Amino acid sequence: MKQTDQIIARLKASDHVLIASHKNPDGDAIGSLLAAGISMTAMGKRATLYNESPIPAVYRFLPRVETIVSRLDGRDDFDAALVLDCGQIDRVGAAALPVVGKTPVVVNIDHHATNTGFGDFQLVDPEACATAEIIYRLVNRMDIAIDADMATALYTGIFTDTGSFRFANTNQAAFAVCDQMVARGADPYTVAKHVYGTYSLGRIKLLNRALDSIEISDNGRLSLMTLTREMFDETGTQPEDVDGMINYARRIRNIKVAVLIQEHSNGRAPGARVKGQGRFHVSLRSDGAVDVSRIASLFGGGGHRNAAGFTVQTDITDIKNGMMELANGL
Ligand code: AMP
Ligand code: MN
Ligand code: MN
Repeated sequence: MKQTDQIIARLKASDHVLIASHKNPDGDAIGSLLAAGISMTAMGKRATLYNESPIPAVYRFLPRVETIVSRLDGRDDFDAALVLDCGQIDRVGAAALPVVGKTPVVVNIDHHATNTGFGDFQLVDPEACATAEIIYRLVNRMDIAIDADMATALYTGIFTDTGSFRFANTNQAAFAVCDQMVARGADPYTVAKHVYGTYSLGRIKLLNRALDSIEISDNGRLSLMTLTREMFDETGTQPEDVDGMINYARRIRNIKVAVLIQEHSNGRAPGARVKGQGRFHVSLRSDGAVDVSRIASLFGGGGHRNAAGFTVQTDITDIKNGMMELANGL
C-alpha cells in the first residue's frame, strides 16, 4: 500500500487527532493547520489544533482560527498526530514534543529540504511550494469536499509561502491549487488585504530601526540586520512584527546572503540581563546562488535553499562576527 493510503487508513482508524505546526507560525503553518483540522472534522474525527505561539495579527482573519489552542492542558491521549511544516520535530515547541512522542502514529507533512524524516509516516516533498500544497493533495485523495474556509486556509498558505508567487518555490501547482481554491470560495483580495494590511505605528518605527541597523560585509556580498530586545520594547512590538523585514536587506544590490539577527525575549527583567548576551533567532535569505539551509543546518537549524533559520544562545558580537566571516566564502 502506498504511504499516503497507509496514512489515510491510520487516520480513519483514529478517534482524536492532534494537529500541530511550527512555533512562531507563518501563513503556511497556520493555513495548513486549519485546512487539516477542517478535513479531520469532515471525516468525523475529533481534532485538536495546536500551535505554541500566538497567532500573528495578520492571520487572525482566517476562518476558524479561534479553534487553534496554545496549550494541551495535560492531554496526551491522541490516536494520531499530524505534524505540519516542521523540518525537525522540535519545531512544534517544548510543550508538545513529549505529547507527540507518546502518540502512536506520527505523520510528518512538510516541504523543507532539511526535513529529518521524523515520524512513522512522511509526506515530505521539497518540490512542493508549501505544506498547504501537500495537504491539498491529501484532502483530494481522501475525497473530502473543500469548503470556502478550507480553500481560504490553503490559498493563504501558498500565497504567503511563495511570497505572493515571487519566490523560487513558486511552481505550477502554486497556481493550479490557488485557481482551485478561488473556484471554491477563497477571495484573493480579502487574503491580500489582511496579509498586507495596515501596520501599527510601532511596526513602522521598528522597520526604521531595522533599516538603520543594516551592516554590509567588506566584500559587499552579505548584509546583516539586527533587532535587539530594546528595539522591541521601545516600539512596543512583537516578534511577529519582524515578518518580511529581512527582504529589505536581501534586496540590496550585489547581496548574496542576507542575515537577520533577532533577540528573543527571555523572560528576565531588562536589569537582570547581561547586555548583548541572550537567545537569538537568525534568519538567512539567499539570492539563489547560495544554499542557506546548509548554513542553518551547521547551527542546528534548517529550512529551504533560499530561506532558512536557526536559534542560538550566545553573545551578539559572536554571531555577528561568525556571520561576517561567512561573507568571505561568498
Ligand atoms: P525564518 O527566517 O524564521 O522565517 O525561517 C526561514 C525558514 O527556515 C522557514 O522555512 C523555517 O521553517 C526555517 N527555520 C527557521 N528557523 C528554524 C530552526 N530553528 N530550525 C529549523 N528550521 C528553521
Ligand atoms: Mn513555515
Ligand atoms: Mn512552509
